[in-house]
Amino acid sequence: MKNDRLTENANRDSVHPEDQTGVLEGLEILPPEALSRRSFLETAGFTLSVAAIGGCDRAPQHTAHPLPEQPAGVIPGRTRIYASTCGGCPSGCGLLVSVRDGRPLKMEGMPEHGLSKGGLCAVGQASPLGLYDSRRLTQPMFHETESSWEEVDRTILGGLEAVSKSKGAVRFVTPTISSPTLKAEIDRFLTRFSDARHIVFDAVSSSAILDAHETTHGKRVLPHYNLSAAKVIVSLGADFLGTWISPVEFTAAWRTRRSPSPSTPEMSFHAQIEGRLSLTGSKADRRYRASPLDFGLILAFLAEALAAHAGRSPIAGSPKEESPLPKEVLLDLAERLWHARGESLVISDSQDVETQILVNSINFMLGNYGNTIDTTYPSQQRQGNDGDVIQLIEELRSEKVQALFVAGTDLTHNLPKREVISEAIRKIPLIVSLGDRMDDLSSFAHCICPDHHWLESWGDYEPVVGLLSLSQPTIAPLRNTRSILESLASWSGRNESAYEILRNHWKSVVFPQTGEELFDSFWDKAVHDGRVDLRPKSIGTPNHSSDSFETSVVRFPKVALRPDQFVLDLYPRVGLTDSRHAHNPWLQELPDPISKVTWDNYAAISSATAARLGIADGDVLEIANEAGDFLVQIPALIQPGHADQVVSLALGYGVKGTDRFARIGPKWIEAKHTVGPGQLVGKNGAGFIKLREKSLSYCPAGITLKKTGRKYSLATTQRQHSLEIPRNVAPHGAEVRDVVQSTTLEAFRRNSTSGAPERHHVSAGDLWPADHPKTGHHWGW
Ligand code: SF4
Repeated sequence: MKNDRLTENANRDSVHPEDQTGVLEGLEILPPEALSRRSFLETAGFTLSVAAIGGCDRAPQHTAHPLPEQPAGVIPGRTRIYASTCGGCPSGCGLLVSVRDGRPLKMEGMPEHGLSKGGLCAVGQASPLGLYDSRRLTQPMFHETESSWEEVDRTILGGLEAVSKSKGAVRFVTPTISSPTLKAEIDRFLTRFSDARHIVFDAVSSSAILDAHETTHGKRVLPHYNLSAAKVIVSLGADFLGTWISPVEFTAAWRTRRSPSPSTPEMSFHAQIEGRLSLTGSKADRRYRASPLDFGLILAFLAEALAAHAGRSPIAGSPKEESPLPKEVLLDLAERLWHARGESLVISDSQDVETQILVNSINFMLGNYGNTIDTTYPSQQRQGNDGDVIQLIEELRSEKVQALFVAGTDLTHNLPKREVISEAIRKIPLIVSLGDRMDDLSSFAHCICPDHHWLESWGDYEPVVGLLSLSQPTIAPLRNTRSILESLASWSGRNESAYEILRNHWKSVVFPQTGEELFDSFWDKAVHDGRVDLRPKSIGTPNHSSDSFETSVVRFPKVALRPDQFVLDLYPRVGLTDSRHAHNPWLQELPDPISKVTWDNYAAISSATAARLGIADGDVLEIANEAGDFLVQIPALIQPGHADQVVSLALGYGVKGTDRFARIGPKWIEAKHTVGPGQLVGKNGAGFIKLREKSLSYCPAGITLKKTGRKYSLATTQRQHSLEIPRNVAPHGAEVRDVVQSTTLEAFRRNSTSGAPERHHVSAGDLWPADHPKTGHHWGW
C-alpha cells in the first residue's frame, strides 16, 4: 500500500490549466478498434484500457506526431508526477499520479498526507480503469436520448423557474461531500428557492455516530479518531482496517503501535467484538463473536465494570439481562481500558443512536475526548443524515418534491422499498441526475448531466476540518461531460470554469485563514503540494462541550430470536464498498481478503449454524425479512469465526448494468463464467435495510433461511484455509516449522528473537556456476 520510491524521487508538478490544455489537446485518442486489448476487458467494454494497463499483448503501432506547441516542462514520453486527492470515496486520501503524454498511468499514496500517510486502497488503485469504461455517458441526456448542454440547461432552467414561482420543494441529494467549494456551490444554487435542502445520503451510513454527538456534545459531528494515540482499542463491529470511515488512514495509524522492536518492545492491545469475521477482526489480539444487536448490551456491561473502577454508579444502569459475553472477558477489557485512560478508544459501527451515546459516555468516562478523539477538528468523511433521508422518502411519497437533483449516488438501488420509492420519484416534475451512467435513478431522470471522472476534473477536499487538499485533472475529459461545479454555476446564471470557481473559493475563504501574504504563491504551492494543513500541530486540551455530560439510564434489552431466526449483518465489502464501484472489473475480481471469494456476494454463516441446518458451501439459500415481503436467493458460504444466529451479506451488488460481465472471463482451466446472460453480479441486499425513526439499520432481526435445493459454485482463489503443516508432509530431512510464527509480547520483551524463525542454512553454492559465465550486460541481476 505504500511506495517510498515515489517519495524520494517525487518530481511533482502542478498542472496549470493553460499547460494542461496544451498537453491534452495534443493527445490523440485512439479509436477502440485500433487497440489490441485483453479479451476480458474488451468484452466488458473498457475500450481504452490498454492505455492504462498495458499487458502481455504486443503493443499496437502508432504514429507519433510532435506537438505543435510543446507545453512548458513537458517532454513527450517522460512521466511526470502530480499531487492530487483520491475521489474513490469521501476519505480523501492523498495521491501522487504518474502522468505520461497526458494520460494517468499509475497512482500511489502521498507519504506526506496528514491522514493517509502514503497509503492507497484497492478502490483508489483501480480508479483509472473507470476513465475508460464505455458505459460512462458520453453526452448529456434528455429523456434517455443524447442531447446537448444547451438543451438540458434550457430544460432545467425552465423547470426551476416553474418550481420557483410555485414555491415548490427542491431537494439536492449527494453522498458525503467534503469539498468546501462544492458544498458552497450547492448552497449558492439552493438559496434562490424558498424550500430547498441539500440531503446527504450515504449508501453505508455512520449517521448514528453524528446523531449521538448531537445529543452528548450539542453539535452533530463525526469525531476524528486518532488510533496512533490509542494503547487499547475496543471495537464493536467497526471494520476500521477494511471499510469503516477512513480505512487507509486508520491502517497507517493503527500500524504505528503494532510493530514492537527490541528498543521499544511495546504494542497496543486491540479487541474486536463482531458478528462476521472482518479484516480488522482477523488482526485483533482478541476477537469475540457476538450479534450486532447485542452491542448495546455488551457496552452496558462494559460501562458498569468501568463505573466500578471509577467508583461511580453505572452510566447505563445495571443491566439485568444475561451478558452476551463472559463476565471475565468484560472485566478484563474494562481493566485494560481503565489503565489506559486517555490513551484508549472504544468505537462501534452500530447504527443505533442509543448505543452510540453509550460509546460516547464510555469514552468520556475514560478521558478519551481531546486525546484519542477530536471533536474540535472533526472528520467530514461521513456526513450522511439518515433522519433527512427518511424525511425525504416521506416527502417523495406525499408528492411534495417538485425538483430532485441527485449526484454521485443511486437512491433507488441503495434503499429498501425500491419500487415504492421509484414510483414516487417518477411523479416529480423535474428529475435531474448528475450520474456518469444509466443507473436505476438515471433511467427515469428527465435530464442527465454527466459529471467528469474525478481524474478529469479540478476539485478540493476537506476530510478533516482544517486539512484541505486539491485534486487536479490528469487527462482531458474523454467524453462530453461537465464538472458538477460548472453545472451548478450555469444553473445559477454564471459562466465560470471549475478551475475559476475553485480558485476563487480558495482565495476568498481558505487563503484568509492561512496568514500568508500573497495568494498566487500560496495557490501555486497548494497545487504543487496537493494539500494545506490549517490545524494546529497538537489537539491540545480536551474538547468536549461539557465537563459532565451524563447519559440517562438506557436499557438495551436482549433481542430474543426463535431458533429458526437470524440477525442479518449487512456490510460493505473491502475493495467494493458500495454500488458506485460495481462496474469496475478489477474490483469485482479482487478476492475478499477473508473468504477469498470473487465476483459474487454470498450469505456467510457459522460452521455450527451450517451443521445445525445441514447447509454446505454453495447451497442456494432463500433469505427473507421478518415481514416476508423481501427475499433474495443467494449461495451460502461457511465462514469459521462467524457468530451463530447471524448471517452476513455484502452490500453494493446486483447493480444495474453488471450483466455486461455475463459469460466472460479468462479462459483458464476450470474457468467459471461470472454470471449468465441477463444476470447481475451478486444480489442487492439493500431491501433488508430497516428504516427506523432516525436511522437506517443494517442489522435487521427476524431473518429466516431456507434451502432451495439448488447449488451455486462460488469463484474463490483459495480453498485451503489451514495454516498448519502436518509433520508427515515436511520435506525429508528438513526442519519442521509452523507457517506462521507467533510469540507473546511478554516473551518478546524477554528475548527479541522469540517467535522469529530460526535461521535457515543458506547454501554457499552458486546458482550460476562457472559453466554459465556472465558476460556483457545483465538484465535483472
Ligand atoms: S479509502 Fe477512499 S479515498 Fe482513500 S484510497 Fe481508498 S477509495 Fe481512495
